[in-house]
Amino acid sequence: MSQSLRNRMTWDTDNGQILDDTRRYVIIRNDVLMGIFSRLDASSAAQALAAFENSVMQSGGQSARAYFNALGNDVNKLLDTMVAFSAELGWGVWSFSRTAAALELTVRNSPFAAGHPKPSAGPVCHPIVGMLRTVGELVFDNRVEVRETQCCCHEVHGDVCRFSIAAVHPENP
Ligand SMILES: [Zn+2]
Repeated sequence: MSQSLRNRMTWDTDNGQILDDTRRYVIIRNDVLMGIFSRLDASSAAQALAAFENSVMQSGGQSARAYFNALGNDVNKLLDTMVAFSAELGWGVWSFSRTAAALELTVRNSPFAAGHPKPSAGPVCHPIVGMLRTVGELVFDNRVEVRETQCCCHEVHGDVCRFSIAAVHPENP
């Protein structure tokens, strides 16, 4: 499978659509997208961000699973593909570091942090968390807990967000 999402995509302008196989994409300004959340009160914004995360986990997760199958269930190739595709989709510059029990991700220049007014009440890169929940499950073959441990929109230093992905053990569900 191609390591370039752009090469896989079809710009079907006759029908006004952008496709990767049957998966349809839409290009939207990051400030328009993130402006939804800054227009809600705090508890509604938190609820909407959580819904955004779950939606990405479900739909984006299907993409990640499709890539994983196409890559012969090779974890390293999956992570390389996520790094390459995220950059091409405008989801920032991803860098994974992996140990046996944990996976960490650093994202530079997250479009979600960049598109939200600063400082935010908490981390705002929930779509990345949603994607990592599926990627983490594929990497560890287990349920995982994912947290954004540092969001540059919330803490406003530099342009780096950090995420931790850890397997949830059966004795500690
Ligand atoms: Zn962030």
